[in-house]
Amino acid sequence: MNIHKIILPTPFAVGNVNVFLIQGERLTLVDAGVKTEEAWQAFQQQINEIGFTVSDIEQIVLTHHHPDHVGLLDYFENDIPVIGHHRNDVWISRDEAFIRHHDAFFAELFPKAGIDEKYLGALAGLKSMLRYSCERSLTHAVKEGDSIPGLSGWEVIETPGHALDHIALYHPQEKVMIGGDLLLEKVSSNPVLEPPQTVGGEREKSLLHYNHSLERLRQFDIDILYTGHGNEIHNVNELVDERLKKQRDRAAKVLLMLREKPSTVFMICQQLFPEIYKKQLSLTMSETLGQLDYLESVDAVTVDLSNGYWVYYAK
Ligand SMILES: [Zn+2]
Repeated sequence: MNIHKIILPTPFAVGNVNVFLIQGERLTLVDAGVKTEEAWQAFQQQINEIGFTVSDIEQIVLTHHHPDHVGLLDYFENDIPVIGHHRNDVWISRDEAFIRHHDAFFAELFPKAGIDEKYLGALAGLKSMLRYSCERSLTHAVKEGDSIPGLSGWEVIETPGHALDHIALYHPQEKVMIGGDLLLEKVSSNPVLEPPQTVGGEREKSLLHYNHSLERLRQFDIDILYTGHGNEIHNVNELVDERLKKQRDRAAKVLLMLREKPSTVFMICQQLFPEIYKKQLSLTMSETLGQLDYLESVDAVTVDLSNGYWVYYAK
């Protein structure tokens, strides 16, 4: 199997990101690093070391829309095929209507989550967060079970949760998966909060999607799982158990807090992530709301919205 791992720097706390070059019938790049000059230089250099130049790359597949996985698309020729889940396109193309929908969704959600007004100003709109991202469009949308042209033997697996457009690529004969950020060697993936697909649609519960995607991993026979950050994973089932246990432990902790005192999402967030929440409000709120969604799904809490914001009670 000809898979080459390319490690690129990012300006984010997560550190480096991995992208992969697969020598199928078409030379395919999976994911495209963050849009910085530094990442582009590192990319070109490593492509050359493998024996190729950038112009040899014939198509790009995206595991999900996060900037560290798509930003370098802007450095490629305009006519290169870009393949990903259909929900990816509004993000990478910076669809105006979607940006408005995104920002309106969070402007409504955060007060309901009980966030102090003084922090609301710090929540930048989507546009300003897209600095390291790209402005491109998918040329080809894929879904569960699809194959990818020029990449025979590989199939698309939908793995929503960390992002709702997240996909993995699986090669059953070789027992290899390229998993994006579905399961990482050293850290848990954040169940990032996203607006629903349509205006007025119901909020999608990222952590519940994520747990389901993790559980699904057990169905596949995987010798090597290539990841978006860090090393390859060989003991997939073991690590899935570990991640799910860690999530349940954290949920149990949240339930104890609620037994002490009914709370808003933000109050729980401050207790779970003291200090960090000030710097990483979106990510810590995603994680907190995820735990509360989980507790609600197992019928351990109730929610009251009568004052205009959610108050969670332990059952
Ligand atoms: Zn990501």
